[in-house]
This record gives sequence, C-alpha cells and structure tokens, in this order.
Amino acid sequence: MFDLSGKTALVTGANTGLGQAIAQALAGAGADIVAVGRSAPADTEAAVRAAGRSFLFLEADLTSQAGFAEIVSRCEKEVGAPDILVNNAGTIRRADAVDFSEADWDEVMNVNLKSAFFLTQAVGRGMIARGAGKVINIASMLSFQGGIRVASYTASKSGIAGLTKLLANEWAGKGVNVNAIAPGYFSTNNTEALRNDETRSRDILARIPAGRWGKPSDLGGAAVFLAAPASDYVHGAIIPVDGGWLAR
Ligand code: NAP
Repeated sequence: MFDLSGKTALVTGANTGLGQAIAQALAGAGADIVAVGRSAPADTEAAVRAAGRSFLFLEADLTSQAGFAEIVSRCEKEVGAPDILVNNAGTIRRADAVDFSEADWDEVMNVNLKSAFFLTQAVGRGMIARGAGKVINIASMLSFQGGIRVASYTASKSGIAGLTKLLANEWAGKGVNVNAIAPGYFSTNNTEALRNDETRSRDILARIPAGRWGKPSDLGGAAVFLAAPASDYVHGAIIPVDGGWLAR
C-alpha cells in the first residue's frame, strides 16, 4: 500500500527544508526523483542516489510559469512520466498590511499559487490521459488561519487550499488524487525570522501540543501516504502535520 517502486515523483524546491525531506521520503519508498527549482540540490541528489533511486535536476525559477511543458517532456523522456507531483516550492515576505508592497504580493503569489496551479495543469494533462496520478500541494496553517504581517503568504496558502479542493472535484473521477499537506511550524529557512524573534518563537512553541517545532523528516509519512495506493480514495483533503497546533 505504501510502495512507490517504479514511480516518478516531480518535487519542486527539493534542495532544502521540507522539499528535501519529502524527496528523501518518496525515494525511500521507491520513487525516482525529478527535482525542479532554482538551486542545485546536491545533498538531495546524494541522498536519493544513496537510496538506490535515480535523480534528475531541472532548473527553473518558479516566479515565472514559462517552460512548464518542457519540464514535463524532459521528465517523461529522461526519467519517466510523472506519477507524483509535489508542489512544495514556496516563499514568504513579511510586512505590516498597511505597508505591504505590490512586489512582495506578486513574488509570493507567483511562486506559491500561480506556478503551483500551472505546473499542476501541465503535469495533470498527462495524468488525466493515463488515468492515474497523485498531486500533493504544500499548504500551511495559514490555509486555515489569518496569520500576521504575511498578507500575500496567507492569500497564497488559502488559495492553495481552495485549488486543492477544486482540482479534486474536477480530477477525482479521472483517477487523479489531489490533496495537500498543511505543515505546522517547522525549522527551515522559511521560519528563520520567526525562530530568531524570541517572543514569537516562545509563543509559537507554547501553543504546540507536541512541545516542539517540526523536523522536516516529520512530513515524510504524510507525503508517502498521499503519493501511494494507500490514499487512492482520499481526494481534496488538507492534512495537518502540525504537532497538534490546530487542535488547540
Ligand atoms: P525553504 O527552506 O525556504 O524552502 C523553500 C523552497 O522553495 C526552496 O527550495 C526554494 O529554493 C524554493 N523556492 C522559493 N522561491 C523559488 C523560486 N522563485 N523558484 C524556484 N524555487 C523557489 O522553506 P520550507 O519551509 O522548506 O518551505 C517549503 C514549503 O513548505 C513552502 O511552500 C512553505 O510555504 C511551506 N511551509 C513551510 C512551513 C514551515 O514551518 N517551514 C510551514 C507551512 C508551510 P531556494 O533554496 O533556491 O530559495
């Protein structure tokens, strides 16, 4: 039920943080990995190859949606048609709403929402034609909550939750599962500013029932589940992996 042997997983932003851990977990379950992003994922490549899986890096700046058809065709030719897509790449900008700039709005919305949608469309066409596929979006606690000082991030992650449900409605009957993982607070580059702010860091920790921040490897199980036959009847779900944050 959790075997990904012979599957190809396309993972965005796999060079670091959560994307790296997800790529490693999928490779551990048997999938070959195609990493899409702007930074060379040397450590991820080494870990995937050590797990005995093949690895391909396709360079792309996901601020723009150009070249998505080429990403899919290179994946198909060089590794195999993508059976699994993980829309993980994401960015964040912090400023008070009254001062929030259009540049900070566009940058975050382009990477987190627009590119995630159009890459899913490009990959999804083949999945629909083959009658099988697994799309995993990386949502956030701010898919459910408002957050503070992160207007474009909250809009993008609320949007990704909506798109996850819309795509599930359109594609569930075509054999394609579209779901999301909503990570709580994890120690990665994305949360460095929060962790460096003593008050915010202490307040966040105090609210996490598990009593600790997440480690990227904590996401691996949910990613393998949503990529594997075990989740074949799961559609449009946004699964929190948050140490209990939302239960509070
Ligand atoms: P991270 O360490 O900052 O990783 C973000 C990834 O996205 C990196 O690979 C980064 O590449 C890539 N990326 C950003 N902008 C890009 C662009 N324009 N083109 C291509 N790639 C780009 O943060 P993370 O925490 O692992 O974040 C992964 C995902 O989890 C994001 O969607 C984030 O919103 C989400 N998330 C994180 C947390 C958390 O607590 N950490 C919580 C909820 C959701 P570079 O290394 O080249 O910048």
